[in-house]
Amino acid sequence: MFGFSLSKLLILIALIVIVWYGFKAVGRVNQKRRARAREAGRNQYSELATENMIQCPKCGAYTASLDAHKCEA
Ligand SMILES: [Zn+2]
Repeated sequence: MFGFSLSKLLILIALIVIVWYGFKAVGRVNQKRRARAREAGRNQYSELATENMIQCPKCGAYTASLDAHKCEA
């Protein structure tokens, strides 16, 4: 009786460990996916910011507005 319940307990512990590691693995995958999404969003945003910049025809420097830009030397 005791031996039977002990083996059941061991199986239960094994199942808990498997489920625990399963959840940990899923959490890691989700975390990676979130980080990738964040990175992609940031890249998209910086590309957008670069597109909004104007290159000065005289000195080649990038500026948000040519009116506010003064060429250096
Ligand atoms: Zn300039």
